[in-house]
Amino acid sequence: MSSTTRTIPLMRKPAARTASGTKTACIRTFGCQMNVHDSDRIRRMIQDAGYAEVQRYEDADLVILNTCYVRENAVDRVKGHLGELGRLRREGRVKRVALTGCIGAAEESATLQRTYDIDLVLGTHNTYELAEFVGLPTMRETYTPELPGTEGEHSTFVTIMTGCNYQCSYCIVPTVRGRMICRPMGSVIGEVERLVAGSTGYVTLLGQTVDAWRHEGKRFCDLLEAVSESAPRVWFTTSHPSNMEDRTLRAMGERDTIVKRLHLPVQSGSDRMLKVMHRGYKAERYRRKIEVFREAVPDGTLSTDIIVGHPGETEEDHEQTLELVEDCSFDSAYIFKFSPRRGTEAATLPGAVPDAVVQRRFLEVLRQIEQNAFRRNRRKVGDVEEIYIRHGSAEDGKAIGETWSGHAVHVNTDVAPGNYVRARIESAGPHVLYAGEPSR
Ligand code: SAM
Ligand code: SF4
Repeated sequence: MSSTTRTIPLMRKPAARTASGTKTACIRTFGCQMNVHDSDRIRRMIQDAGYAEVQRYEDADLVILNTCYVRENAVDRVKGHLGELGRLRREGRVKRVALTGCIGAAEESATLQRTYDIDLVLGTHNTYELAEFVGLPTMRETYTPELPGTEGEHSTFVTIMTGCNYQCSYCIVPTVRGRMICRPMGSVIGEVERLVAGSTGYVTLLGQTVDAWRHEGKRFCDLLEAVSESAPRVWFTTSHPSNMEDRTLRAMGERDTIVKRLHLPVQSGSDRMLKVMHRGYKAERYRRKIEVFREAVPDGTLSTDIIVGHPGETEEDHEQTLELVEDCSFDSAYIFKFSPRRGTEAATLPGAVPDAVVQRRFLEVLRQIEQNAFRRNRRKVGDVEEIYIRHGSAEDGKAIGETWSGHAVHVNTDVAPGNYVRARIESAGPHVLYAGEPSR
């Protein structure tokens, strides 16, 4: 096993089969796009092993929970599912349960395995060990990022790096996902070309800090430019402000195939808090990056992550976050209430912020984000946009699409996902635009 893989002690039980002989498996994914992508690989393994995928636990011989550990409520959710699975197992409906992903890589997983009698626990670096568990030949994986995406899908994630070299005070990711490993450029481009030759029309480059990607003298912008030559539509997430180069922002404005949506987590608008968090930049530097983005990509959309209630956050720090939110005028944001994670520095810091204060700050940031987003969205009304259909129409006949500027749009069409329609934006809400009848 390579030095990049990590094994959690396993407790294996023999493989199960239903009376009809058809094995069934249900995969539940919690957390970020990295986990969604890992679930794609898990899906392939169970299909290769002859399992039919089912959506309900009660129909599954095997249930795989692919988990997130970033915040405590993510763990609470998984515990709820494990409790329910325990009941189904006692009733003989579910035979085996596997837990994979970030919880699997955390120390707490050993306790969970005992408490809930989980058959197999795997971390993020040894998901491939699931192969043996589902009856496939034993796999050895020496290089985690070298993993294919889901071919044949209209929109596909391509992992370009795994892990993270930062040590943000609050974050468990470096512990559960390890240090950064960048995938070679040729391997990424090869995969993108293969996917595009299939039916993929939209490639999302994935990693915890994609803009930190570098390999043999090449930097993220070189990779992005090369991918944008091969793929008809490209996006990337997540970026770190310290790694975001102006030339990447300019490339976003100049290249037609790159979706003009930047997700750049800021976390706080206070220099004091940014230092406590070990983010490695000041609020002014972040503002400057955003100025470059707004100038280079005037019709682009900007989103961010913000944590409220990190230990030691004062009213003044919070005010500074509100100021930054106003200055940057985000189009959307993920706002998180601080959640202490055992093993991180912030979990041991003094200065806990009372829940009621965290809740008020959360709502204040949310209100301001929504006001700005609503104002910006209203500017789009009247524009005619080319819209990429991401999700086919629901019962109300509305499909969900995305403009080249990265706005989410509800549009009345039965066009299949992966295709484009042109339509005029007729109205706007704080989170989404509403288009009229498409002209094609
Ligand atoms: N690598 C990305 C970056 O640095 O911006 C983010 C990855 S993290 C999985 C996604 C977001 O979760 C972070 O940007 C942060 O806002 C939030 N987060 C991480 N740990 C957290 C914690 N302990 N409490 C609350 N929010 C947290
Ligand atoms: Fe976590 Fe910070 Fe790394 Fe993002 S950059 S994954 S927040 S440690």
